[in-house]
Amino acid sequence: MKNMNFKKYFAKNVCSDKVLKKFMPNLVYKKYLKLKKNNEPLDYKTAHYIADAVKIWAIKNGATHYTHWFLPLNGKMAEKQISFIDIAASDYVEALNEHSLIKGETDASSFPNGGARTTFEARGYTIWDYTSPMFLKSYQNGHKVLCIPTVFCSYNGYALDEKTPLLRSIEILNQQALRILKHLGYNDVKKVINNVGAEQEYFLIDKKDFQNRFDLKIVGRTLFGRAPIMSQEMHSHYLCPINDRLSKFMNQVNKKLWKIGIPAKLQHNEVAPLQHELVPIFTSANIACDQNQIIMETISMVAKSNNFVALFHEKPFEGINGSGKHINWSLSTDTGINLLDIDINDKLLFLIFFTSVVVAIDEYQDLIRASIAYRENDLRLGGNEAPPTLISVYVGDFLQKIICENKIIDSNNKSKFIDTKVKTISKTTKDYCDKNRTSPFVYTGNKFEFRMVGASQSISWPCTCLNTIVAKILSDFADKLDLVQTNQKCVARQLAMDIFHAHEKIIYNGNCYDQKWVDEAQKRGLINHKDSVSCYKIYDNENIVSLFQSTGVLSLEELKIRKNAFLKNYVESVEVETRTMIEILTREIFPSIITSKQFYDNVKASDSSDHIKQIKEKLSDALKSLSKLHIKLKKLLNELVDEKDLLIKAEKENDEILLTTKKIRKIFDDIESFIPQKYKPFPDYNDILFSLK
Ligand code: ADP
Ligand code: MG
Repeated sequence: MKNMNFKKYFAKNVCSDKVLKKFMPNLVYKKYLKLKKNNEPLDYKTAHYIADAVKIWAIKNGATHYTHWFLPLNGKMAEKQISFIDIAASDYVEALNEHSLIKGETDASSFPNGGARTTFEARGYTIWDYTSPMFLKSYQNGHKVLCIPTVFCSYNGYALDEKTPLLRSIEILNQQALRILKHLGYNDVKKVINNVGAEQEYFLIDKKDFQNRFDLKIVGRTLFGRAPIMSQEMHSHYLCPINDRLSKFMNQVNKKLWKIGIPAKLQHNEVAPLQHELVPIFTSANIACDQNQIIMETISMVAKSNNFVALFHEKPFEGINGSGKHINWSLSTDTGINLLDIDINDKLLFLIFFTSVVVAIDEYQDLIRASIAYRENDLRLGGNEAPPTLISVYVGDFLQKIICENKIIDSNNKSKFIDTKVKTISKTTKDYCDKNRTSPFVYTGNKFEFRMVGASQSISWPCTCLNTIVAKILSDFADKLDLVQTNQKCVARQLAMDIFHAHEKIIYNGNCYDQKWVDEAQKRGLINHKDSVSCYKIYDNENIVSLFQSTGVLSLEELKIRKNAFLKNYVESVEVETRTMIEILTREIFPSIITSKQFYDNVKASDSSDHIKQIKEKLSDALKSLSKLHIKLKKLLNELVDEKDLLIKAEKENDEILLTTKKIRKIFDDIESFIPQKYKPFPDYNDILFSLK
């Protein structure tokens, strides 16, 4: 890469305030800044000038189209590209006005809508979210599109997307945090910002292997495959040096991201072979959410042009680490205080916000668990290197002890020096606590890290749930402080200590992978939803309905929409997997076993050792069992076609279909190595995982 002038290059393709200032009348620009600062909606007059400015800028920079860009409930980005061309006074003109900037119309019934829309009442709207910047998306072929971040709702105004509830939750969190700050005398704070940094894990596999794996193409994970000879032994992949081919890919990804204002910061090889991580610098939650989607899209796009395919599936390879997306989460004031930083001067402030998060997680364990529940993540949680299905919080023994013993937090005492006893190596301070990779929810010194989030999911819903529950606890806290007339700080301190004690059962600083912890958690009465389907039921619970209603994040109707959409996504995901398995058996596995059998049948009787006889027997048995289960699987799928109740359908799928698919996989995996190389139905785990060595 030539010398990178970050200042000039970074965010070059973002319609920043600087761009707007350049192309807008000064007075209107100032009004726009004021509206933005005060969190107020844009009026059409201001939007008229913004539309004009962004149109000039986008076309000048090579864009031919614009698109409203949104996140429907399937968690994937959606766009409808519209060219700037229009006809006015029988001439062709370039057009983008305030109306098309602010509002777009789209078919809501074609997206997951939880039954809120049918094909004959399809209208839905996309409406501009001006708090997330517009940017130019560039394709490898040079095509450029102006992306306008929007929310997406139905004709009757119900939120049908990931962004709307997130925005509502950010606002309610801001309001409740401000109430606490006012009580503690921080009258200068006007806004509390919800910061998020999402670490993105992904696999990169060679394009030719991908093309020869029907399962990867359709469902993004391998439905068959014996464990490889070597996977994560000797820790040979984690942080291993990045090779040339990968470096070329990563550089291209970074350059694209920097250009559209995404501060890609870290890149490294992850634990599993072919697994990598990309981490941007944290930003406000809404923008972080949009940026994370763009990061995934950019990785996919650049991978293809480098003869790779990127996999964001939570568990592409059975028995091998899956991919997650750790959400680093904190709150800061517009005056620059990180409210979750143990080092801030006002320890009471820290104590209240810190304990409120811990309490919120305990009080709403089931919602936090449900926020990351979907079929693909079920395959990962509790597996290699992924957090278990059980919710707990790691705070470290140091902090837990101090709070429990009612001591004043003194962060100066916490650090000790690391002394390597090498004369030339500088002494350096330790963090106040260790890192716990087994815990689902970890305090790290200045933020919490939610580690259960899956690699492919949008971070919006987990962030929305987290924001909402913390807002609720802060609101309860503020309600109590409202009643206190004197000695408020003393009372606040005692209150924080009391609620911490009352919810201490959620804290576990040990090894969460250990069965001992599962047993202990049961004794403590913690909730353990083992799979997504049991999680979805909680959306009917009175306390969850009331949480969303009282905070204004979702109405009862909107919560139902979400629950149904989650269930539908689940059911469809299982169905597609099952149909893919049936197809692979029919067109790849059966012919492969039959040809392999013939190959061994042709070995002359005199040369036929016991070993070959055993192989023949194994292949015959497998063929028979697989044929039976193949018929059974098709029958089970057919029986569920008319089941209209999604919950019953999902439960039946879990009980019968998934058990049958597990059996099928085991039978094939057990005989995979007996299939001669030339009759293999598809590349195996050894081929795929070590093809880039
Ligand atoms: P790890 O060491 O856990 O792998 P990384 O360095 O990969 O962590 O990622 C840490 C992420 O946390 C980055 O996105 C970083 O910007 C973000 N982060 C740092 N401080 C904060 C904060 N105060 N609030 C939210 N996110 C933060
Ligand atoms: Mg990391």
